[in-house]
Amino acid sequence: MYQSFIGLEVHIHLLTKTKVFCRCRSAFGDEPNTNVCPVCMGYPGVLPTLNLEAMRMGCIVARALNCTIPERTWFERKQYFYPDMTKNYQISQFASPLGQRGCLELEGSGADGKPIKKKVRIKECHLEEDAGKMIHTGTVSLLDYNRAGVSLLEIVTEPDMETGEEAEFFIQQLRRMVRYLGVCDGNMEEGSLRADANVSINLPGQGLGKKVEIKNLNSSRFVRLGLNYEIRRQAEILDGGRTVVQETRLWNENRDETAPMRQKENAQDYRYFPEPDLPVFCPDPAFLASVDKALVELPPARLKRLMAEYALTEEQAGLICDEKTSADYFEAAVRAAVAALPPEKALSQKDAADRIAKWILSDIKHLLHKEGLAGLDSFTLSPSRLASLVVMQAQGRLTGKLAKQTLERAVVEDKDPELIVREHHWEQITDPVLIAETARKVLAQEGATAGELQGLGNEDEKRRKTLFAYLVGKVLAATGGRADPKTAGEEIEKLLGTTAQP
Ligand SMILES: [Zn+2]
Repeated sequence: MYQSFIGLEVHIHLLTKTKVFCRCRSAFGDEPNTNVCPVCMGYPGVLPTLNLEAMRMGCIVARALNCTIPERTWFERKQYFYPDMTKNYQISQFASPLGQRGCLELEGSGADGKPIKKKVRIKECHLEEDAGKMIHTGTVSLLDYNRAGVSLLEIVTEPDMETGEEAEFFIQQLRRMVRYLGVCDGNMEEGSLRADANVSINLPGQGLGKKVEIKNLNSSRFVRLGLNYEIRRQAEILDGGRTVVQETRLWNENRDETAPMRQKENAQDYRYFPEPDLPVFCPDPAFLASVDKALVELPPARLKRLMAEYALTEEQAGLICDEKTSADYFEAAVRAAVAALPPEKALSQKDAADRIAKWILSDIKHLLHKEGLAGLDSFTLSPSRLASLVVMQAQGRLTGKLAKQTLERAVVEDKDPELIVREHHWEQITDPVLIAETARKVLAQEGATAGELQGLGNEDEKRRKTLFAYLVGKVLAATGGRADPKTAGEEIEKLLGTTAQP
């Protein structure tokens, strides 16, 4: 058995409105080459200026990853020639990255269902500019420089992971974290979160082996598949008495395998030197305070708190915490539901939480999907309106079916559920006198069924239940679905002098 060493380099696009060293718009999907200026196109004589918001967002991620922010941090020029980088160098960080020596704790279960508990050390986080995009079509290559100069944060881990599952989990957790922090949308398909992985294997106790880098991993699933494939491939090479070649390989998602891209005998010499056009950045107390202020409660901590505070199951809490907007929505709705009634009649926090979690994870989820909405932040039903629906249901004023109908109408009409129920007269009927009156009418119309039921012996249990359910259904229908089904059943039993269950 070999020991595996996996490290990740994750690039995230920071959600700054403008690029990192100029004032061009930073956006995905705009008309090619419209967000460009002399600075990001590398014209001679232009001067970059640092986007402070990019530095702040970078430092927020660094702090969330438990990194140290140095007293002085600066930029270097990384020299390389490639058509997507018109300056022939990239402004990056080398000697003094903005975040240093952190860690991310992984706790949960992997895609294979096995538990994961591990602390992954973060080597550094550094801020740099992204390159443009090359589009190869047939015999020509097109260049779009809209992405050139977009704020990019690179997060580099130590080789602390051992399986594809752990690496996948790391990326999922990091993605959720940066979305919670509001600094990156985490969209791997659009390339706003990209990962390269490196992996080596060796006999236990022998340290790192020959490192292979894998590129083109544009989903967290591909990270897992690519790494597990690569670990198997390297083990076969070592088993055969051969040596692994140090190289960069590409993941081929159509063939589920990696293929060689280029061999890397020695580290490339990028001839880094300090960027002379940008001053050293020394974060002052006000800057550091603004970074700390942005550190919201992160998903693992929030999940634990929701389980403890609201008695949610791990599955419920996990689903609700997946997005910050849904966790915020959930907590606001619970607060509103508990506060809706005077203290002596109020719902308990646990009861309200359970009801609200169920609504969010079933009917509301389906509605969001139907309306094509990405999350609860764009949902028309406010948390307090959901609370009002839940309170009516808890008080027995709405049947389950009509509660669902009320939810749909409240969304379509953008109205308070109370108002909808009043307008449509959907309030549940629980008064036995009213229900008995309806039941009497129904039995008069359904004389044959009533007669059959009364004549049934105790052994015809199945038929008895079917006929009872039929009559209860008729009473509900006669009241527009508003009668309390339990009372309806009781009244029919009284009128027929027989019971649903012998
Ligand atoms: Zn520009």
